[in-house]
Amino acid sequence: MQLTNLLDFTLPAMTEWFAAQGEKAFRARQVFHWIHQRGVADFAAMTDLAKSLRAKLEETAVIEAPAILSEHRSQDGTVKWLFDVGVGNGIETVFIPEEERGTLCVSSQVGCALDCKFCSTGRQGFNRDLTVAEIIGQLWIANRRLRELQAEGTFSRLSAADPGPDFRPVTNVVMMGMGEPLNNFDNVVGAMSIMLDDHAYGLSRRRVTLSTSGVVPNIRKLRDVLPVALAVSLHAPDDELRSRIMPINQAYPIRELLAACREYLECSPRDFITFEYVMLDGVNDGEAHARGLVDLLSDTPCKVNLIPFNPFPNSGFVRSPRGVIERFSALLNASGIVTTTRKTRGEEIDAACGQLAGQIQDRTGRPTRLEGIRS
Ligand code: SAH
Ligand code: SF4
Repeated sequence: MQLTNLLDFTLPAMTEWFAAQGEKAFRARQVFHWIHQRGVADFAAMTDLAKSLRAKLEETAVIEAPAILSEHRSQDGTVKWLFDVGVGNGIETVFIPEEERGTLCVSSQVGCALDCKFCSTGRQGFNRDLTVAEIIGQLWIANRRLRELQAEGTFSRLSAADPGPDFRPVTNVVMMGMGEPLNNFDNVVGAMSIMLDDHAYGLSRRRVTLSTSGVVPNIRKLRDVLPVALAVSLHAPDDELRSRIMPINQAYPIRELLAACREYLECSPRDFITFEYVMLDGVNDGEAHARGLVDLLSDTPCKVNLIPFNPFPNSGFVRSPRGVIERFSALLNASGIVTTTRKTRGEEIDAACGQLAGQIQDRTGRPTRLEGIRS
């Protein structure tokens, strides 16, 4: 018999599954607590359940997250995991500790179909959507593993809190790993609703950020069903350039995207949209681009996050020099757009979008296709 993976369930789904087995709703809640708040995978350890129920669960269910293929720890405390999601496929998850918080960068798909020219995940092509268990499993394992590292004393960058059984080092989640989360809408919303559930991780909507390349209809859908904090990958101030480096712009051009962003703000837990802007030398980093951006964003409450380009083999792009990024940022800030520059963390372990898994497999075998992109 196929065992049911309980990591796939939101609390309502778990309650329904328990009801179908003749079990009461509070039993589903208890098991949900054990799994997500305690990080327990073994039914035998769920001591407040009747022995008969534990035995029944052993026969019908499992709690199974993707297996860790490798773990890399960087000097600055960043940890990156590569997870096995079947035949030759890896996805990656990155933990970034800061003073007051610990942020986990979570993947939503194996590869990505959207083919942004500067992205190594895009370079790999699309393989498949991740299941709810595979998405929430990244958070589940990260908390368990970080707790172990903390207990071993290997990891001084984590909070000094006592690593008791309820200690969960991940305080923030960003859906910024591999894949386009809004193209795997139902599973991403399912997993995020577990992140927000007080019976599981209890993260507030402000602490969960979804990053999208701009799938406009699904930005509207997200606003209606689960409006978490929103980040939008903009990367260019005009349609001509944006379409060249992000083909999705041909389907959803900038005006439509910004209109959807403003509508999103009606329900957003934050009163601004974060626009991400990757700094590509000689492509989108000139003064005219910065001025274009200021004009474009004048009627959309926002912050801008500049991301120094993370190089990967044969990308055809180069990171903008530091001085150029500083000038770009200063111009935006002087024009009243709060602009920050992402710190490059964990560089020696390639903790950037799609890189480690990219070393395992290039599914497309495409040649470098970047002629004509640089302007
Ligand atoms: N698909 C979603 C989320 C995953 S990518 C999106 O595109 O928003 C997360 C962020 O990393 C995006 O802003 C993306 O544009 C950016 N990114 C992709 N490749 C990058 C690279 N090589 N260097 C720096 N940022 C990159
Ligand atoms: Fe996909 Fe985002 Fe990479 Fe674009 S940047 S290819 S949307 S993962």
